[in-house]
Amino acid sequence: MSNTTKSSSIKSVNPFNNEVVKEFEAMSKEQVSSIIDKADEAFKKWKHSSMEERSTIMHKVASLMRDKKEELGKLATLEMGKVLAQAIGEVKICSAIFDYYADNAAEFLADKPLKVPHGEAFLSYEPIGVILSVQPWNFPFYQITRSAAAHITAGNTMVLKHASNVPQCAQMMEDIFREAGLPDGVYTNLFVSGKDIEPIVANPKIKAVTLTGSEPAGASIATAAAKVVKKSTLELGGSDPFIVLEDADVALAAKTAVQGRMANGGQVCTSPKRMIVAASIYDEFLSKTKEAFEQIKVGNPMDADTTLGPLSSEKAAEDVLAQIQKAAEQGANIALGGKRMDRPGAFLEPTLVTDITQEMDMYVEEVFGPVMMLYKYETLEEALEIANATPFGLGGTVFGTDTKKAVEVARKVDSGMVYINHATSVAPQLPFGGTKHSGYGREHAIEGLLEFVNIKMIRTTSPDKPF
Ligand code: NAP
Repeated sequence: MSNTTKSSSIKSVNPFNNEVVKEFEAMSKEQVSSIIDKADEAFKKWKHSSMEERSTIMHKVASLMRDKKEELGKLATLEMGKVLAQAIGEVKICSAIFDYYADNAAEFLADKPLKVPHGEAFLSYEPIGVILSVQPWNFPFYQITRSAAAHITAGNTMVLKHASNVPQCAQMMEDIFREAGLPDGVYTNLFVSGKDIEPIVANPKIKAVTLTGSEPAGASIATAAAKVVKKSTLELGGSDPFIVLEDADVALAAKTAVQGRMANGGQVCTSPKRMIVAASIYDEFLSKTKEAFEQIKVGNPMDADTTLGPLSSEKAAEDVLAQIQKAAEQGANIALGGKRMDRPGAFLEPTLVTDITQEMDMYVEEVFGPVMMLYKYETLEEALEIANATPFGLGGTVFGTDTKKAVEVARKVDSGMVYINHATSVAPQLPFGGTKHSGYGREHAIEGLLEFVNIKMIRTTSPDKPF
């Protein structure tokens, strides 16, 4: 990659003031091919490296990230506008993920014996080669970590195409891998635009592809992979329900909902986006929500007291504004906010939308910004109908003091993850992923590690033995 003055789609633009910080030249087809060749060559050695060697490097990555958390955090804040404290928190989670795989991969990838009447049978978990990873900007370091930590520890190599607005974060991560001692070619960035990714999937040296991002990007990558019979995993959008049961601690539920919704500027796939509240506590929830909105401090994301920064880009702010305006035209009530802020940068007012009906686009759409949608329900059936009405099925929350009852409700939510009394979160040991149009496959935990390994069955027996 080289810095350039030439106009490129790959650039750092500070969304706090919309100033271009740095532009990068996109790689040519020849450069991309040569990086993939190198990743394939590196695989031939890396797949035979010991788990001890891999673990040592992964622990080193974790410790470098811990040491550089302020520097990394500032870079994420600069490139996509998240509040600095949250950016530093993101880096800490990355360290925990690298440490987790370093500590557990040997056990997860150990041969697994199978019960057979005679002889022996077991599963052997073997890496498959170069993985293409395509990632979004909203957690610039965590998104790289989520796929790289697992698949590289499993013995694969990786070429990663990061979102075009976070190239400096991408470069920083590659530098950290190198500093940690990861051999050349095991992890390399591809600086190309999203629209140029599809043909790369067909390169025979790419063995599988993983994408986190929007539904259209996921569909395009999965189609390209299917055409050449390669496995894909997709982590796509979400419009997570947050169901508040009658017996919930209403003040805590409202505070959790607002904090969860506004974190990362509302640009989290698993944000609680739709609050679905029992009619008997609706007014109290609304009033506590309004109180929590008053506590939001919009400002420079680098400042310690800011709780809500700009969106990731001018376009992102305009897209979300258009969704709010359409909802208003279709009859929804914009109870709070709803406008751009009178200041430079990609700022949008924290917004609360109520009275959304089935006929409105907002009923089924994902809104990727600081916009809370509030629904009222009379019966649990109605709550679940609203919860399950979108094409998405990523995460979800059920709030209530009777945990057993909350778990029963959680079982009826069509999604990949449900948290009780907590906004959807992440931890290295908890499988992460969705169902429906939120994608397929899992990341984190043993499930994430096994997505891109060949689960080979080996059976010892003899021809004279009955099977
Ligand atoms: P996006 O446009 O799909 O971008 C994500 C990545 O895909 C970027 O690297 C982008 O490259 C690339 N891309 C875009 N079009 C592509 C195509 N046709 N083929 C291949 N790659 C393509 O996503 P976004 O709108 O920026 O990100 C927000 C979305 O991601 C939301 O829907 C959010 O919910 C979802 N998300 C999901 C998760 C999860 O874990 N489920 C996590 C975070 C975000 P360029 O930047 O060069 O366009």
